Amino acid sequence: MNHTLTVCPYCGTGCMFYLVSDGGQLVGVEPSVTHPISRGGLCVKGWNAFAFVHHPDRLTTPLIRRGGELRPASWDEALGLVVDRLREIQERHGADSIMFASSAKATNEENYLLMKLARGAFGTNNIDHCARLCHSSTVVGLAETFGSGAMTNSIDCIDRAEAILVIGSNTTEQHPLIGSRILKAARSGARLIVADNRRIRLARHADLHLRHRNGSDVAFLNGMMQVIIAEGLEDREFIESRCDNYPALAAAVAHWTPERAAAVTGLEPGEIVAAARLFAKAKTAMIVYSMGITQHSHGVDNVRCCAALAMLTGNLGRPGTGVNPLRGQNNVQGGCDMGALPDVFSGYQKVADPAVREKFADAWGVDGLPEQPGLPLTRAMDAAAEGQLKGMFILGENPILSDPDQGHARRALESLDFLAVQDIFLTETAQLADVVLPAACFAEKEGTFTNTERRVQRVRKAVEPPGKARADWEIICALAERAGYGGMRYPDPSAVMDEIASLTPIYGGIGYDRLDPHGLQWPCPDRSHPGTPILHVGRFTRDSGRFSPAPYRPPAELPDGDYPFVLTTGRTYFHWHTGTMTRRTHLLDREERCSFVEINPDDAARLGIRERDRVLVTSRRGEVQARARVTEMVVPGVVFMPFHFTEGAANALTNNVLDPESAIPEFKVCAVRVRRAP
Ligand code: SF4
Repeated sequence: MNHTLTVCPYCGTGCMFYLVSDGGQLVGVEPSVTHPISRGGLCVKGWNAFAFVHHPDRLTTPLIRRGGELRPASWDEALGLVVDRLREIQERHGADSIMFASSAKATNEENYLLMKLARGAFGTNNIDHCARLCHSSTVVGLAETFGSGAMTNSIDCIDRAEAILVIGSNTTEQHPLIGSRILKAARSGARLIVADNRRIRLARHADLHLRHRNGSDVAFLNGMMQVIIAEGLEDREFIESRCDNYPALAAAVAHWTPERAAAVTGLEPGEIVAAARLFAKAKTAMIVYSMGITQHSHGVDNVRCCAALAMLTGNLGRPGTGVNPLRGQNNVQGGCDMGALPDVFSGYQKVADPAVREKFADAWGVDGLPEQPGLPLTRAMDAAAEGQLKGMFILGENPILSDPDQGHARRALESLDFLAVQDIFLTETAQLADVVLPAACFAEKEGTFTNTERRVQRVRKAVEPPGKARADWEIICALAERAGYGGMRYPDPSAVMDEIASLTPIYGGIGYDRLDPHGLQWPCPDRSHPGTPILHVGRFTRDSGRFSPAPYRPPAELPDGDYPFVLTTGRTYFHWHTGTMTRRTHLLDREERCSFVEINPDDAARLGIRERDRVLVTSRRGEVQARARVTEMVVPGVVFMPFHFTEGAANALTNNVLDPESAIPEFKVCAVRVRRAP
């Protein structure tokens, strides 16, 4: 038996475990008892993370569409076709007529390389990845207020918090080991405020469970801040010494009395007052949020309010405090850090800055780099649907299931002149491709992932990839060669990380020789730096923390006579995103086999719907069938669906309206009607 220490491929918690292999086959997983997060534990997805690796559905050879069918091809043919077609489109329609979609499931090195391929070899800033769908609001909102768009504190800090506000995060299901830490903290005396419309598991252990209306977070948080200022609970010293623009915030929240906030949120005024007092009076208070905050047409404003609440109460730069967005995918933090974003190189260095462009151009051996920011992924899908974007290269993403308004996503991809997909399974998106490139999964390659607390950790190869599948980084480098760009020849991923470190100040001290046993947290500017568990100690990354007041804007689509329910979407404990891996994991799929819709018992009784009935859920964009789950988890007037399932796809219903600043879609609120299936 061999034991290979590596990182879980599912959520951004970043648990480490040993892959156990025997005779070239994975046979199990053993948690790392010394890892600071896992501490000998894993959730059910982690325990089963080996099980999809040898699934018979794995892609084993390149595929090229011929006569309408995807047929096996050689690597030489497939790579040549990808480069020729993308080049041909660029020659005919311009450099920005193509788009590269990178992946939060790929390693840091692979995200960096795809970014380099797009910018250095193909001359376009049209590169993005699924952070656009989950935490782009965080990147914009926290960068503006603090100067850094990342989780401010470490997971360990949960143990030091006197009060924890969990808002828009079903932590025990989405980030289970962080959820366990919060539960343990609550059992040890931390005061827990859960602001979530659903009765999530954490709510059962909360001092306060606030079921505010979907999309009313700005009103709720402004209401809390009004109470804090009116009662003199703000941290004057912190505000005066560390922050700017406070008068604007105070003026903006002054009219958000508890009564007014209550009218918008549906809460009792006393609940808002109680939350404000509990949070502001704690010596250490922490905010934990996730996509319930970010995935709104006003997601950036939600983030601004979280940041303002922390600054107002002086809860930054100390253990047990902070604004802590829990990043979704295993390497979504790293995907952002590596510049798989349309406006920045690695380390958030702006493409619009001539000195930054010159630095990268010199290092990469190219004459120049494009200066205009590229298209966010969501706007690229719009551009494709409108015929303006002609070619797309998608690495490890499945927009047919993950993007809002599935009909729109399908139209967009079908409108392209050329689509190439690199993945480990023939996903719903890969089925539409002209060329499919078979990739190695996490267990079959070397690299690093960066978890939600900015911890860069080693990913290690335990077994060989199936058939002719190759590691993503090798495929990207081979594409660069075919494109005639000789600047991407590396002996191994550690050499790629050395290049990243040389160009990226926040990763300046990262190298594979320093990552054992449990990684380093950035910023880590030089080889002697120990890493940074807590950001903004003493001073903010942008010198002063900036209060950015946010006006309340309702969700873009609210219920009406035709569509009387609010639909909100999310994940479940047993599955991950579009189910590509978890639905091919027997034990996980057995637990949750099909799509469902949670509906309140009052609504169900009124509509004649019983537990497990098949129901039709319809929005202005589509209709799906799912099993009814009659439950008090949701309040009357609200229904919830997971988005993991291709049968009963929740994103056939969701609304493709975007936050104007972050371009994140409003996954969390749209209007639907529900009825029993005939
Ligand atoms: S909590 Fe997240 S990282 Fe840890 S085992 Fe579960 S899915 Fe993997």
